Amino acid sequence: MVTSEQDGAETISARLAAIHARLPAGVTLLAVSKAQPLEALQRAYGAGQDCFAESRLQEALPKIAAMGRERISWHFIGRLQSNKVRPVVKAFDWIHSIDSAALLERISRIAAEEGRCPEVLLQVKLRKDPAKGGFAPDLLHAGLSAWARLPHLHLRGLMTMAPQGLTAQQRQALFGDCATLARALRQLLPATEASRFDQLSMGMSGDWPDAVRAGSTVIRIGTGIFGRRPLISCT
Ligand SMILES: *Cc1c(COP(=O)(O)O)cnc(C)c1O
Repeated sequence: MVTSEQDGAETISARLAAIHARLPAGVTLLAVSKAQPLEALQRAYGAGQDCFAESRLQEALPKIAAMGRERISWHFIGRLQSNKVRPVVKAFDWIHSIDSAALLERISRIAAEEGRCPEVLLQVKLRKDPAKGGFAPDLLHAGLSAWARLPHLHLRGLMTMAPQGLTAQQRQALFGDCATLARALRQLLPATEASRFDQLSMGMSGDWPDAVRAGSTVIRIGTGIFGRRPLISCT
């Protein structure tokens, strides 16, 4: 049985350490703190964790306000509605979940007005999955060079999620396809933009070792750090 004690500071710290021990150098461990109370984030921060991901703006804002922006990087990983772009651009350093050209253009325009320049990842859908958003790979090929010229964002790479129910082998293939796609897209970019297009956000609690083997540079781990989500989850 999971008790709140089991999810205390020692447990969170031990889980973080256990993942780090298996993680190759250069891969970022992002703590997905959606549906977790502020104390859980503070425990992780106390154990040295300095980047957190949230998927709902309203839930994230008080946590960001409480923990601050100076020493922590904040990543938005939820579905981004166009009317939430301004507050997301103001509050978050990274956005992983961009799935339309219109959203990219809006982010750049609003970031200019707000004096911001977010790091952004394009979410890609490599397999049919009605539950998940993301660009079809063809659309990425078609749009990339134009998006790389948007002045107020940095295009940093791709994000993907494996659909539920794949075998380990199918997951491995999907993550491999994402890495191959990222390499192909990089070739379309001018040198400066290409060198910046260097991140692959893939891998969650249940599948991160497969993602890392395929070349992930950012794994997004929620339950694997914090345990079961105690608040109502949104995704
Ligand atoms: C919730 C979520 C995660 C973390 O999932 P866990 O299985 O708890 O590790 C990662 N990425 C996205 C986009 C999520 O919504």
